[in-house]
Amino acid sequence: MNSNIQTLINTLAEAHSLSLGQYQELIDVRCPEAAALLADKAVAERVKIYGKDVYVRGLIEISNICKNDCLYCGIRRSNKSCDRYRLSREQIMECAAEGYRLGFRTFVLQGGEDPYFTDDVLCDIVTEIKSQYPDCALTLSMGERSRESYALLRRAGADRYLLRHETADRAHYESLHPAEMSFDNRMRCLRDLRELGYQVGCGFMVGSPNQTSATLANDLKFIEDFKPDMCGIGPFIPHKDTPFKDHPAGTVELTCYLLSVIRLIHPPVLLPATTALGTIHPEGREMGIQAGANVVMPNLSPVSVRKKYELYDNKICTGEESAQCKDCLSARMESVGYHIVTDRGDVRRQNER
Ligand code: SAH
Repeated sequence: MNSNIQTLINTLAEAHSLSLGQYQELIDVRCPEAAALLADKAVAERVKIYGKDVYVRGLIEISNICKNDCLYCGIRRSNKSCDRYRLSREQIMECAAEGYRLGFRTFVLQGGEDPYFTDDVLCDIVTEIKSQYPDCALTLSMGERSRESYALLRRAGADRYLLRHETADRAHYESLHPAEMSFDNRMRCLRDLRELGYQVGCGFMVGSPNQTSATLANDLKFIEDFKPDMCGIGPFIPHKDTPFKDHPAGTVELTCYLLSVIRLIHPPVLLPATTALGTIHPEGREMGIQAGANVVMPNLSPVSVRKKYELYDNKICTGEESAQCKDCLSARMESVGYHIVTDRGDVRRQNER
C-alpha cells in the first residue's frame, strides 16, 4: 500500500472528512491492503457505537406500479413486460402482523410511485400500523412527494423515510433519469424530510452507468455534509428490460470499500448490507457487515408478489416465506460473529453508548 493512501485513510478516520480530490484519490488508488485497513477502522467505529448488533427491518414491497421511468429500474413505467401488482391495505396489515410475530420492530413500506397511494390512502395505512404496533418504527420509501404530503405522513406517524439521492452529480443524475425528473426536486425532498423531523436515508448505486470516481467523490461529500441517519448503497445490477440491460453490474469489492468509507465519514449512520449485494455474491451481505454495515432488510412481502418487485435481474429472497428469510439472515450474521436484534434500532449519537 502506498504511504499516500495510508495517510488518507488515517485522516479520514480522525477528521471524518476529506476534500473532493482526496475522496477521488482514495477510490482511484485503492488496493486490497487499503480496503482491509479501511474495513478494520470502520468496524472499530461501528462496534464503539452499536457493538456487534445488526438491526433488521421488515421490508414490505407494497406496489410495483410506477409513474417514473428511471433508466436503470426494472419497474419503470416503460417496461411493458413487468407484471404489475399493488397490495391491498389488508395484505399490508397481514405482512406487518407476520413481521411482528417474527420479532420485527421496524417496518419499511417501499414501492414505485404509484398514484393510487394518495396522501389519504397512505396516511390511513400509516395510522393503522402505528396504532396496532405503537412500539414499532415505520419507515416509508415511496419516492418523491410534496412537502405537504411528507408533513401529513409524518403527522400520521411515519418515523423514517428512505429516498436514495441516486447520485450527487447533476449531469450523472440526468444521464440516469428521463428529462422530466429533476435532481433539484430529489434534493428538495431530502431537505424537506429532514426539516419535518424524519430520520432520513439517502444513498446510491455502486457501478451505475456513467459513474466515475469523480461522481462518487460528490456522493461522499454530500454524505459528509448531509449526515444522513441511514444510507443505502448497493451495486447496480442490470435489468433485462431496461436501456441499461447490457451494462455490467457494480462489484462487491467497490461496494464494500465504500461502505467502510461511509462508516468513517459518519460513524453513527445506519448502513444496510443490501439485497443487491447479496444478489451479486452469495456472501455479499456478510461481507458488507464485515466492511462496516449494521442493518439487514429481510423481505416480508407476500411470496406471491416477490418475483414481481424485480428492480434488477436475479434478485434473491423471492421464493421463501418471511420466517425463512429472517432465519436465513440470522444464521448468516451469526456465521460472521454478529447478532440480529429486533428493537426499533434508532440512530444513535456518537456518545450514547
Ligand atoms: N420509488 C422509491 C423506491 C425505489 S426502489 C424511490 O424512488 O425511492 C429502491 C432503490 O432501488 C432505488 O432508489 C435504486 O437506487 C435501487 N435500484 C433501482 N434499480 C436498480 C438496479 N437496476 N440495480 C440496483 N439497484 C437498483
